[in-house]
Amino acid sequence: MLAIRVNNISVGYISKPVLKDVNFTVESGSFVGLIGPNGSGKTTLLRVITGILHPWSGNVEIFEKSADSLTRIDIARSVGVVPQESFFAFNFKTEEIVLMGRYPYLKRFKSETKKDYDIVYESMKFTDTLSFRDRPINDLSGGERQRVVIARSLSQSPKILLLDEPTSHLDLNHQIEIFDLLKRLNKRGMTILAISHDLNLASMYCERLILLDAGRIRLIGTPEEVITPTLIEDVYKTKVLLQENPVTHTPYILLLPSGID
Ligand code: ADP
Repeated sequence: MLAIRVNNISVGYISKPVLKDVNFTVESGSFVGLIGPNGSGKTTLLRVITGILHPWSGNVEIFEKSADSLTRIDIARSVGVVPQESFFAFNFKTEEIVLMGRYPYLKRFKSETKKDYDIVYESMKFTDTLSFRDRPINDLSGGERQRVVIARSLSQSPKILLLDEPTSHLDLNHQIEIFDLLKRLNKRGMTILAISHDLNLASMYCERLILLDAGRIRLIGTPEEVITPTLIEDVYKTKVLLQENPVTHTPYILLLPSGID
């Protein structure tokens, strides 16, 4: 079963084209990384998949149904989104933030049911956020807050999780913590498509990588196929050295200062 099919998408903003003829599929249950330099169109692609941005041409299918035929609520029941960093204008209690994930399931003028609270509890347990359920969201550290945002997405009971550089503002240990959490979710059947600016993390955790280059797909393949010095140097315009991670045996990129051959 395909979780996501992106068919020949071209899209941009006002008159500025960004994505050009983008095609790919994501198998249900897979863990896929979306990589590419800044401005290559990764976030734009996530916006198209969630229906926030309407493609100029082409279409998106979610579980083999055209996204055009799905309402925003339908999409929210299948697809959870975790942004780079979340700001909360109001200092809600952490548990209230997670409960907001139930919004696509709430009946009009009805309050939350026991089932909603049970799902919130499970989502917080899974993300190890129960211990701060009563604390105001803005009092948490970046890593804790990101886990809460993932818990909120999980309380949507999605089958697909889309993440936009979920570790970009986190310390090394929290980066690993988030990717470990994603791996555990993936083992339970969640389809994951995550933007990552960190090629080494992406190559450690993802089965497949989609490399975007100036709005076009440059290559889709396993980390070994995509993380090659020639390709990475060409797309990212920087010198790199490729090694093998001695523990995970996945490709490991070392950055080099300019001026070294
Ligand atoms: P990435 O996520 O790979 O860094 P983006 O999808 O954010 O790339 O951006 C792709 C291009 O689209 C960039 O040139 C960016 O400036 C432009 N862009 C992104 N969002 C908007 C917007 N809301 N309005 C106009 N241009 C945008």
